Amino acid sequence: MTALMISPSGVRGIVGQGLTPEVVVRFAASFGYWSGGGTVAVGSDTRTSREMFKHAVLAGLLSTGCQVIDVEICPTPTLQFMIEELQVDGGIMISGSHNPAEWNALKFIRSDGLFLYPDQIEKLISLYDKNVIKRQTWRDIKTVQKDASAISRHLKKILDTFAYQEIARRKFKVVIDACNGAGSLVSPLLLRQLNCEVVEINCTPNGFFPHPPEPIAANLTELAETVKLCGADVGFAHDADADRLVIVSETGEILPEDYTLLLAAEATLRKRRGLIVTNVCTTNALEEVAARFACPVKRTKVGDVYVSRCMREEGAVVGGEGNGGVIIPEIHYGRDGIAAIALILEYLTEENKSVSQLASRLPPRWTIKEKLSLKQSFSDIRKKLQEEFADYEFDLIDGIKIIFPKGWVHLRLSRTEPVLRIISEAKNEGTATILHQRVLSLL
Ligand code: MG
Repeated sequence: MTALMISPSGVRGIVGQGLTPEVVVRFAASFGYWSGGGTVAVGSDTRTSREMFKHAVLAGLLSTGCQVIDVEICPTPTLQFMIEELQVDGGIMISGSHNPAEWNALKFIRSDGLFLYPDQIEKLISLYDKNVIKRQTWRDIKTVQKDASAISRHLKKILDTFAYQEIARRKFKVVIDACNGAGSLVSPLLLRQLNCEVVEINCTPNGFFPHPPEPIAANLTELAETVKLCGADVGFAHDADADRLVIVSETGEILPEDYTLLLAAEATLRKRRGLIVTNVCTTNALEEVAARFACPVKRTKVGDVYVSRCMREEGAVVGGEGNGGVIIPEIHYGRDGIAAIALILEYLTEENKSVSQLASRLPPRWTIKEKLSLKQSFSDIRKKLQEEFADYEFDLIDGIKIIFPKGWVHLRLSRTEPVLRIISEAKNEGTATILHQRVLSLL
C-alpha cells in the first residue's frame, strides 16, 4: 500500500509511515499561507494519532500568522458547519474518515464550509511541493483559542430545522453505533434531545475501532443483532467522522448504503420538490424515486466537493452519495450523518411507518461493490473496455461507466485508497452478477 496519498480530496496516509508530523506541519503551513494568514478552525476525529497531528497542524498554521480556533473532537460536518457559523477563513479537519485506525488524513475546508475546490487544492499541493512558504516572525505569531461550542451549535441547527417535538412524541427506541469515532459525542446527544430511548454501542470516543469504520453490512453485524435483541425501532451507524449514515431496520436488516440517500430523497421531495444531485456511481433507483415526484437528478464526479458545489450552484433540495452521505442544504453543503438521523426520524414520524415499510417502497436494485488492487494502468483498462463494449453507451464524467440495457458497471481509481473501485448494478442479483463478472473477466 502507498503510505501517503495526496489527492483532490486531501492528504491521507498511514500514521508514522507516509503520514508523519513533518508532512502534516508543512501541509498545515501551506494552507495557512494559502489562506493569507487568516483565522482557521481545526477539528479532529477520535484516532489515537489525533493529538500528535493536531499539534503539528497548530504549529504549521501559527507559523504562517494564522489565528487558530481549536474546536477539539467533532464530526467533519460539525466542523464544516462551525466554519460558516464563526465566519472564519477556513478549516482543517484531521480525520481518516472510513479508513482503518492506522490511517489518518487532513481535509482542507474553505470559508464557506465546502472542501477546497480542485484548482485550490492543486495550488495548495504546489505550495507544499515547492516548500516556499513565508513564515512569520515572533511579533506576528498569534494564538490558539479553544471553542467547545461546535457540537451544541450544530445540534441546535438540526433541532431548529426538523420537527423535533413531533419526533419526540414518538419516543423511538434507537441503537447507535458510532464505531468509537467522533459521532460518539454527538449522535447519542441528538437522539436524547429527540426523546429517544438510546442504546449506545461503540460510543466511547477513544479511537480504538471495534470494527472497520466503513459503514458497510460486513462491519455492522453487532448493530443489527442489537437492534433485534432489544426490539428497537431503528439502528444507525456512522464512519469515524460521522459524515456517513447507514440504517438498520427494526427487523435487524442492514439497508444498503445507497438506501440512506433514497430515503432522504423521498423524505425531502414529499415536502419540497426540486433538483437532486448525486455522483455518477450512486444507484439509478434515485431517478425512479425522483420521477415519483416529477423531479430531476443531476450527476457529478465522485466526491463531496463536486456534489456540494453543484447543489449550491443549482439550488438543489437534497443530495449526497451512495456511500451513506446525505447533504441537507438547510443545515450546510456537506455530507452530514447527524442531520440525516433527524431527517429519517422525522420521515418515520410523519409517515407513521416502520423502517422496513419505508424501505419496501423503494425501487428494487442489486448492487455489487468491489475493490481491486490495480495490475495495469487505468487508461489501459478504459481503452480495453471501450473496445470490448463499443456497442454500448459510456459515461466518462469520472472513471468509466458502461451503460448496458439492464444495468451498469462503473470503474474508477479511488482517491482515498490505492485501489480500483468497481460498482455493478441491475434490478436483480442475477443480472448484476453477470454484468459484474463480464467486466471483471477483462481486467
Ligand atoms: Mg467520513
